[in-house]
Amino acid sequence: MARYRGPVCRLCRRFGDKLMLKGDRCYRKCGLERRAQPPGFRTARRRRISDRAVQLKEKQKARYTYGILERQFRRYYAEAVRRPGVTGDNLIRLLEMRLDNVIFRLGLADSRPQARQVVRHGHILLNGRKASIPSTQVRVNDIVGWSQRGKKSEYYKVVEETAKSKVVPSWLARDDDTLTGRILRAPEPADAGTPFDPLVIVEYYSR
Ligand code: SF4
Repeated sequence: MARYRGPVCRLCRRFGDKLMLKGDRCYRKCGLERRAQPPGFRTARRRRISDRAVQLKEKQKARYTYGILERQFRRYYAEAVRRPGVTGDNLIRLLEMRLDNVIFRLGLADSRPQARQVVRHGHILLNGRKASIPSTQVRVNDIVGWSQRGKKSEYYKVVEETAKSKVVPSWLARDDDTLTGRILRAPEPADAGTPFDPLVIVEYYSR
């Protein structure tokens, strides 16, 4: 399926928020910190932004943060509406419980795009079986980790060096010896710390 393959720091500059799409570089040499104005504008323009534009911006921010296309994002929203509870909270849970996001959150990849790639390459095991679909929804008590083949890759050596220094959110647990992770519970919206407001996204779709 087609993905956004353009320069990702431009997205952060356009949205004025760090979407953390470049892994380690986001902590060391962030493009947004060096050049904060939106791409295409030499000086900041003052203009009135409509409510609809704000809602669209939040939705796009969420989409690019998790690397999801519009059609799939709509499906997540429809599922969030269908489930009992607060739609915005359900939406965050669905996004956070994606396999590629869990790999990123566990520190087993530098960024969500990187996590997506290692899943697509068949380097990740879910409950001992190869899982190569990044959008797979994990469940409570599932165990994820790198496959034996994946552990022979150059990238795994980097993960081994860096993973232990990365903080894991409270809804996940990482075993630092085996570099595997367990899903302890479904995430709460406060756990996600996402750079967008799910309620504004709900407003966008409920028009
Ligand atoms: Fe680029 Fe990462 Fe900074 Fe975004 S957060 S501007 S992707 S370096």
